[in-house]
Amino acid sequence: MATDEAIEFEDRILPNIADDPGAAVMQMIDDAAMLGASDVFFVTDADVVHVQARLMGMVRGLYRLSVVDGRRCLNYMKTAAEMDLAERRHPADGRWVFVGPSGVRRDLRINTIPTLYGEDFSLRLLGRDRQGDDFENLGLSKQQLRDVHSMLNCPGGLILVTGPSGAGKTTSLYACLRHLNNGLRKLNTIEDPIESEIPGVRQSQVDVSIGLDFPDLLRSVLRQAPDVILIGEIRDKVTAQTAIRAANSGHLVLATMHAPVTAGAIRAMLNYDVHPHFLASSLLGIISQRLVRVLCGKCHQPIDVSGAPHIFDDVQKDLMPGQGQVIYGPKGCEACHRTGFATRTGVFEVMNVSTKMRGLISNMSPEREIYDEAIRTGMHDFRRAGLLKVAQGVTSMEELLRVVPAEYLNAEAALA
Ligand SMILES: [Zn+2]
Repeated sequence: MATDEAIEFEDRILPNIADDPGAAVMQMIDDAAMLGASDVFFVTDADVVHVQARLMGMVRGLYRLSVVDGRRCLNYMKTAAEMDLAERRHPADGRWVFVGPSGVRRDLRINTIPTLYGEDFSLRLLGRDRQGDDFENLGLSKQQLRDVHSMLNCPGGLILVTGPSGAGKTTSLYACLRHLNNGLRKLNTIEDPIESEIPGVRQSQVDVSIGLDFPDLLRSVLRQAPDVILIGEIRDKVTAQTAIRAANSGHLVLATMHAPVTAGAIRAMLNYDVHPHFLASSLLGIISQRLVRVLCGKCHQPIDVSGAPHIFDDVQKDLMPGQGQVIYGPKGCEACHRTGFATRTGVFEVMNVSTKMRGLISNMSPEREIYDEAIRTGMHDFRRAGLLKVAQGVTSMEELLRVVPAEYLNAEAALA
């Protein structure tokens, strides 16, 4: 794994690893957690062990250890996660409830894999503080917020959230659950894994090792008489069909699935042999999303776009006076660890299913027609939603293109 942009941690002194590998491991994971990392990697090369973190979706170098010190740290983590120290030739999984010196707490999912020079470790950091992730902070526009609220206010039906992994789907679903969790409803989730604890919500985890998968758990959860069901991911026929039945019988069902844009989720559901009529009658809406990095406000660089006066024509009516004259690019300063970016935010398509769209779904009309109808009735596709964020100075044009590939910025190609 190459990292061209390393975070400057050279000045930081790690405790002597030979004397106390535990203290060094605690500090390294604590540092990564405090930076907001979603993962930490220990990557073993011929003469060095790289300690890296995934920050805002990008892999960054944190520390470099000698191979001997790296081995000591890996052994310490295996012991902490109650893994077999002698097992170095097969991939292995472990779990460790980590409480760092700063008091930061994470549920670590550890996976090891043998590589050319030894073992690599991948640590997923779960249980990050999501308190701030309510609707207002997800990156939805005002209109999109209204659309999502109106879907959630329905007593029953299906809401789908789509996008690739790492696109922020879980964060959005948790925000939905927190909104619905008013003490008057019974909320059940089926997750893989449970990413953070939501007080008051009954959360269940898939465990394939004992044969407990989404369809089995979903059947059981329905017998728990929930009002709201969150399905971590629809990835098989039985789950898709059971979800539709539950949504049609008065449950509010929230689920994620893999589809590039909103309209793609309809085809994905039909591919699971869901009856188009039942899909049409239960589907409330589809949210599709990506995460873009937000420019650091301390160092962003203005870029004059007066030479290209038409780039924001499509979103002109959504711009405030003065927006879209200048756009910004990243530079890098102390505050943003020289990345040029401060945090991440979502770019969304929110499709509210109208009566006319129900007819189109029921008749198995082409996705293109459904998508066009959504846009005709005011939906911002990724292109418009993304351009708006660039015109508002939230992110750069390059970042938008990195995260939402050109083919999805052009609806014609996405549905071809
Ligand atoms: Zn900066």
